Amino acid sequence: MKRVSIFGATGSIGQNTIDLIARAPDEYEIVALSGGRNVAQLAEDARNLRAEVAVTAFAECLPDLRAALAGTGIAAAAGEEALLEAAARPADWVMSAIVGAAGLAPGLKALEQGAALALANKESMVCAGPLIMATARAHGGVVLPVDSEHSAVFQALVGERIEDVERVVLTASGGAFRDWPLERLAQATPEQAATHPNWDMGQRITIDSASMFNKALELIETREFFQLDPARIEAVVHPESLVHALVGFRDGALMAHVGPSDMRHAIGYALHYPERRALPVERLDLVQIGQLTFRAACETRWPALRLARDVMAAGGLAGAVFNAAKEQAMDAFIDHRIGFLQMAEVVEVVLNRLSAHKSHIDAEISLDNVRQADHLARVTADEYIRNG
Ligand code: NAD
Ligand code: MG
Repeated sequence: MKRVSIFGATGSIGQNTIDLIARAPDEYEIVALSGGRNVAQLAEDARNLRAEVAVTAFAECLPDLRAALAGTGIAAAAGEEALLEAAARPADWVMSAIVGAAGLAPGLKALEQGAALALANKESMVCAGPLIMATARAHGGVVLPVDSEHSAVFQALVGERIEDVERVVLTASGGAFRDWPLERLAQATPEQAATHPNWDMGQRITIDSASMFNKALELIETREFFQLDPARIEAVVHPESLVHALVGFRDGALMAHVGPSDMRHAIGYALHYPERRALPVERLDLVQIGQLTFRAACETRWPALRLARDVMAAGGLAGAVFNAAKEQAMDAFIDHRIGFLQMAEVVEVVLNRLSAHKSHIDAEISLDNVRQADHLARVTADEYIRNG
């Protein structure tokens, strides 16, 4: 029996993970499930999967969770401390699928107790990649990418040497506005940005796809995962979202990972790693698809890509600042306090303001320092959004 915990179980990645696990209930023992305000879903999954503990991130949701789990013997808990306690419970495989920087601390806890960490939460890699990798090494754990592009690269690298990699190409769908004229983008609404042409995902990552902040995070995530020179990491727009990434080798070969837009492939690969098992995903009909197209990822249309390059060049805590400023800017966009194009503007201003003090960026990447940088970036972003 594989002991499994799922953080962010009620979200899009979490539910896809549960879909796979529920197909083979005899193979898994569920330790912890976590969610947010969707207590009914969390309780239902905890009952069905007979979890040991269910945790909601929010204290005010605890009475409802307790009531929904009454008489089941499943423990109910709430808040950040409870999440960490749940992550410290021995498990073999832990899915990190909380959205945002909030996923970092539970992921580190899971690695500290020696679990394999399936990482969907790209934000934690962007904020603290070196810390995550060092924690995994120190405890004999492994970090398995779940982001589809990174899973694709990881798979293309099986049996290869990283020194032979000339470049990695991440594909981007281009999101909701890829065909909009530039002058219309200023008027784009959160509702429009939260509709994805190919993937069915959570609201925040879908908006990040429209602004390309998602690809920006993924460029940084690639650097941290595979320790590649940023100059070797590219993004290209691929509207069909069928090629997930390509790895170019020194002999000129390009290995592409092609598959349907279904996250259960990447989740399943991480779940069964190092084995490959059958997965319930569509098999592509190449003749019906007919053609695959690629376009340049324009940094004028998507300034987030340019900012990602600056962050990779700066290193240190720049990733934590970038991510926090982006999360804060997105909250303001969702609340209609700023426009779509202002998200990148806010992030750029925060990066510039905090980079002016070297000590804000050039510090050791510890959990405390990441939290401080995150806090400072959010305060700076809010201040700029309010007062300019
Ligand atoms: P989602 O919004 O559907 O789900 C997020 C989960 O996190 C929910 O369970 C929610 O309750 C929980 N959560 C939200 N705020 C929290 C907080 N402050 N503390 C603790 N828990 C909190 O998001 P998603 O689309 O499933 O994405 C999850 C992660 O996976 C993100 O980092 C995203 O970038 C990444 N990812 C998602 C996809 C996808 O297809 N959805 C693909 C690649 C990577
Ligand atoms: Mg991705």
